[in-house]
Amino acid sequence: MIYVQEVVTRDGFQNEGHFVPTNKKIELINKLSKVGLNKIEVTSFVSPKAVPNLRDAEEVMDGINRNPNITYSALVPNLIGARRAVECEVDEINLLVSASNTHNLKNVNYTTEQTFEKFNEIIDYLSNKKISINGSLGTSFGCPFEGQIPAEHILNLIEKYFELGVFNITLADTTGMAIPNQVYNLCTKIINEFPTINITLHFHNTRGMGLANVLEGIRAGINRFDSSLGGLGGCPFAPGATGNICTEDLVHMLYFMGYKMTVNLDKLVNVAKYLQEIIPWELDGQVIKSGKITDLHPR
Ligand code: ZN
Repeated sequence: MIYVQEVVTRDGFQNEGHFVPTNKKIELINKLSKVGLNKIEVTSFVSPKAVPNLRDAEEVMDGINRNPNITYSALVPNLIGARRAVECEVDEINLLVSASNTHNLKNVNYTTEQTFEKFNEIIDYLSNKKISINGSLGTSFGCPFEGQIPAEHILNLIEKYFELGVFNITLADTTGMAIPNQVYNLCTKIINEFPTINITLHFHNTRGMGLANVLEGIRAGINRFDSSLGGLGGCPFAPGATGNICTEDLVHMLYFMGYKMTVNLDKLVNVAKYLQEIIPWELDGQVIKSGKITDLHPR
């Protein structure tokens, strides 16, 4: 079974050149809630000054119709964000720190070490609440400033999350630098060292390697993937970072390879077409343009 986790309304919309109206966000999430996805990262409880596009986090979170089979997650950068997320009764809080110190400084003005210290207060605050915690590691497969990140460093940071009691970990390839054999090798190492944690892989398709990386992740034993409808996404603090891997293209590939998923491909493609209607430029997704491999033309 492969778990498909949608990030378009967070990773995708945070980087859009324009503000996507709140009612459109809610409508999109309500549609996504009906296609069998396993998780939706709804928004980010970040300062509206830092990410103006997500200034409506509360309205969106409160406005959606929740499907009990879906985990509704939100990115939280600090204690203030955690309080806001709890107020909205999110199912999961997603913490984020960059494995690269330089990227983390650019992103949140703290060193990686300092960010981990700050996680303590968030985790203390959440300790008596029924909210699960996911810990993300940005730039896990490379940093646009520092280059390669040693596997040892990633293992140490996972250990740090472990010590905080966080056992769901996302390895994010923030700027699309992962290469397939690296994905296989790193994931194999992590699974050997930490056999009990749940790992999500979060790839960006910046250099066209996204789906190849997914397959190498699966070969290593990973079964949770973040992706973004239409391939929307990026990173405002990383030069040249482009969209996440595209959800409908991912599901199309895995479906025709015979992998079990709860997502319905046809319904998902229809929601991607809806997204194209509310976004003023052409989405990166291939399947909404070309159709499925089984959509044949008359002879
Ligand atoms: Zn991302």
